[in-house]
Amino acid sequence: MWKTIRINSNKNLIETEEYKDAYMGLGGRSLIAQFLNDEVNPDCDPLGEEAKIIICTSMFAGSGLVCANRLSVGAKSPLTGGIKESNVGGSAAKALSDHNIRSIIIESKPKIDGIMKVILIRSDGSISLEDATSYQGMNNYEFVENMQKKYSENISVISIGVAGERLYKNSSLQITEYGTNYPCRAAGRGGLGSVLASKGIKGIVIQNADEKSKPAYADQEKFSRIRKALNKSVAEASKTNPFSLIGTACTIDKTGVAGIIPTHNFTGTISEKIDNLKSDKFIDFVNRNGKNQHPCQSGCLIKCSNIIKDNDGKFLTGGFEYETIALCGPNCDIYDFETIARMDRICDDLGLDTIETGASIALCMEAEIIPWGDANAALELYQQIAEGTEIGNLIGQGTAAVGEHYNIKRIPTCKNQAIPGYDPRGTIGTGFTYATSSMGADHTAGITLGKDDPTDLAGAIQTSNVMQRIFAMADSMTCMMTMSTLGGQLDQLAELYNAMYGGDLNAEGLFAAADKTLKMEHEFNKKAGWTKADNQIPEFFRTEPLPSTGKTFNIPAEMMGI
Ligand code: SF4
Repeated sequence: MWKTIRINSNKNLIETEEYKDAYMGLGGRSLIAQFLNDEVNPDCDPLGEEAKIIICTSMFAGSGLVCANRLSVGAKSPLTGGIKESNVGGSAAKALSDHNIRSIIIESKPKIDGIMKVILIRSDGSISLEDATSYQGMNNYEFVENMQKKYSENISVISIGVAGERLYKNSSLQITEYGTNYPCRAAGRGGLGSVLASKGIKGIVIQNADEKSKPAYADQEKFSRIRKALNKSVAEASKTNPFSLIGTACTIDKTGVAGIIPTHNFTGTISEKIDNLKSDKFIDFVNRNGKNQHPCQSGCLIKCSNIIKDNDGKFLTGGFEYETIALCGPNCDIYDFETIARMDRICDDLGLDTIETGASIALCMEAEIIPWGDANAALELYQQIAEGTEIGNLIGQGTAAVGEHYNIKRIPTCKNQAIPGYDPRGTIGTGFTYATSSMGADHTAGITLGKDDPTDLAGAIQTSNVMQRIFAMADSMTCMMTMSTLGGQLDQLAELYNAMYGGDLNAEGLFAAADKTLKMEHEFNKKAGWTKADNQIPEFFRTEPLPSTGKTFNIPAEMMGI
């Protein structure tokens, strides 16, 4: 039977609960939506006593389904003020599944702010809260190294760095990566690192389970048969999938040429330097000492991740992704993989969302605090974020706060969250997602790149809505990267669900479950104070044409429910 671990950070109490029948068949994003609606007052202070943070696995974690060992982190976001589910790979979800743990709920607040603990899940399944005073102020890489020395090399760690400890609204939780054991996988969006810090938790350490067990499936034989076929189809498709062969960085080949990648704070100016960041250069950069086609979690057959090493062959960073390259690179007029990879490492180490941070640094350039494209000056700002200086603390409050502080007109945020690596003028369906989704400006809520037509507004909206449903489905089951293949086999996926949990779901049932997740998220946000008037895209996207196409974001406000 699955278990829920509930931790009261005020009483230092750990309880193991049987997994609720009502939650059976939920996982990842759907579980977070249900849980937050059931247990958290949407009106609460995200860092206060009433707030809770939930860390859970996908509904298929531990089952051997391709890429299904996903971890979801959910809470009311201190950045957007709405619900947030941040979905991440790494080794933790599998490790939790091996202990039969589906979710960890952390609630209340420590009696004294700033006193930190580590949640230790031992090999024998026992759980304790360990004093973490000596690790306070430590960043993720050093923290993980310390945990490995103390508890063994073979652990999975979920942790925060100083960004979380400083309660920054752009702070992440970092997860150790499968294979390297470095904390380079990020549950980045929404500032959830600060929520974990507000509970006085520095990290969660999971030792490998002595005895791996899993609950009985409704029909194990059927499950194994369908899983084998689905896994085979994904493995086959990955042989020609550019995300498998190159990584998400290959997206630049499309967005760079089309002017959709953010440049110079979303002006869309195309620089010839974009050639420095194309796929062929990326492969050269990765291959100088590292490698691509790395699986970030066990059971991944797509392997879109990578290992980046420095000139001396020392590990620099992993999971070096398109979004980080776009926001920390061209959006700041920086076109050099070496520098951007260093920024990625710093963000992972401090526990910072690379998207929010890159967008904020660009605003500092727009405000003439540092010159455009000055990599050293940008790296100095990262240092100030670490030190918590006045400007460092300002950047920690997120892109909207930076823009407002410097009185900047062009602030690229929706629902207070920085827009990721796709200019909404070049993909209006994605822009619609940024403005209307339950997650704010988040491409993982429903990207429509290459699927929308700027002359067909209704079609773009429809595509966005379909993608929002598909992503809600994927984030509950497995890695969204599988959906280009599994999305065409939803009846089989539903049969897999039936073989695991029982029932007679079909593809329509999966969509209905995704709709329920979205409905719960929107209900939470409504109670938290979001209204349709918040479904805004920043005005400059409506008035300034994208240089590459001459087009603005043209979905009228009334079509966005405003
Ligand atoms: S496809 Fe990429 S993000 Fe998804 S599990 Fe595999 S390596 Fe991780």
